[in-house]
Amino acid sequence: MHPVLKELCVEDPAPGAICGERRGGGGKLLESRNPATGALLGRVKQASRADYDETIGRSQATFERWRAEPAPRRGEIIRQIGDELRRFKEPLGKLVTLEMGKIATEGQGEVQEMIDIADFAVGLSRQLYGLSMHSERASHRMFEQWHPLGTVGIITAFNFPVAVWAWNAMIAAVCGDSMVWKPSSKTPLSAVAAQQIATRVLARHGHPDVMALLVGPSADVGEPMLDDRRVPLVSATGSCTMGRVVSERVARRFGRSLLELGGNNAIVVMDDADVDLALRAILFGAVGTAGQRCTSTRRVIVQEGISSKLADRLVRAYASVKIGDPMDPGTLMGPLVDRGAVGDYTRAIEQIRREGGELLCGGKVLAGPRYESGCFVEPTIVKAPPALPMMQEETFAPILYLVTVKELDEAIALQNGVPQGLSSAIFTPDLRSAERFLGSAGSDCGIANVNVGTSGAEIGGAFGGEKETGGGREAGSDSWKTYMRRQTCTINWGRELPLAQGVKFPDSITQG
Ligand code: NAD
Repeated sequence: MHPVLKELCVEDPAPGAICGERRGGGGKLLESRNPATGALLGRVKQASRADYDETIGRSQATFERWRAEPAPRRGEIIRQIGDELRRFKEPLGKLVTLEMGKIATEGQGEVQEMIDIADFAVGLSRQLYGLSMHSERASHRMFEQWHPLGTVGIITAFNFPVAVWAWNAMIAAVCGDSMVWKPSSKTPLSAVAAQQIATRVLARHGHPDVMALLVGPSADVGEPMLDDRRVPLVSATGSCTMGRVVSERVARRFGRSLLELGGNNAIVVMDDADVDLALRAILFGAVGTAGQRCTSTRRVIVQEGISSKLADRLVRAYASVKIGDPMDPGTLMGPLVDRGAVGDYTRAIEQIRREGGELLCGGKVLAGPRYESGCFVEPTIVKAPPALPMMQEETFAPILYLVTVKELDEAIALQNGVPQGLSSAIFTPDLRSAERFLGSAGSDCGIANVNVGTSGAEIGGAFGGEKETGGGREAGSDSWKTYMRRQTCTINWGRELPLAQGVKFPDSITQG
């Protein structure tokens, strides 16, 4: 077993179907490898279809007990999970880096996000407010209240192996839901470690099954959730292709889905922008996590007056990005998650060339002793005509398109002219340009920033996007409402039975 798993007190071999105690794991062993070195990190026993059924059954049973705990008491248990995450922040962040390949500071940042959302959920546990309304009928009172939903299915992507689960899990838990998590099969160990940290706390309070985990093939443990009426909400994070399947199948049974899908995010840079600021935001947005964030900056739409200056400075900055082992503190860009992702990168570069995009830098897979795993690529800048077809797609790799425009309206039209609608930004000190970008005829994305890049959102806001990004909202603000059901209640404390809208129905027929 890898030493970091020992530090995290992970049981070995970690079973794939986990409720409170170790059990399940009726499927095959799944290997997890470090994308930077190719070294084996560990094996996880995968869950089978039978494990799925057993786990959902247990989750339903645990829901009956968990929802009976007062919400602030549930919040207190989440507070303790937050404390445990603080205790294990360093090794858990390290495991994320080892297994997914993001650089060490981003691995630590991911665990910090889990802690932040746990803190948010603790406060929320005393603020699951409903409204009260004035009734039009005398001696009547109207109000709404929020009840837990049941067992929530959580499907997550490889690029945030633990934080996205926490966004869902901490909020769903204070809302009174139980949950079953199907993580990406590319990052199973991080999932096992995170779930075991939370479950040790829940078990101390007699609720070991609230946050269950099923590592396994999506056919055995993901897809069954889509058709399962015992799962009222499926929260799914991943590609638009996956989201379309989830959305259609869950809707067919009138279930609820929360979709967090692909992005195709742009930064608009106006002539009057603070170029130093814009450069830093573009660099982090495009190269950070090796371009494998849903909010990664994929397009820069720059006004013609500073276009060539920005391009030159970006190319120079790219040349000094240190690529290598993500555990090395000097590294700014680690590997892609696996060779499949490298194949997507190579195919995209070929297609860009065919379509007339001009590579300003990058475009190659790195070879040599430091890059033996075969998962390292060069961050790439492409000078693109506005109509380049590849710009419509999200390639999950560090490829950045630079497009020159004359003025703001053209920039906004280009920014909005893609199927996805997650994150967007404008760099300008001009109030009018900024407000136009944020206005109703401006950016059509779920996230719109001014002088802040597209990636690196805080948990306090509602996170998510429009169009093919799926429309879901997670994390802060009032995202919690998706995890609960709303009930509108009217109480008549008088002796009459007036009808709404002044409708009359004779009392005489019920008299005598
Ligand atoms: P993916 O779609 O390949 O897989 C995501 C998850 O869905 C995995 O757990 C996978 O096993 C599961 N899955 C796939 N098909 C399924 C099906 N038919 N039924 C049930 N489960 C199924 O995505 P990925 O490669 O892991 O992640 C990258 C993608 O995720 C990118 O498109 C990225 O933009 C997106 N993403 C979006 C957000 C967001 O908040 N909007 C956050 C992170 C990642």
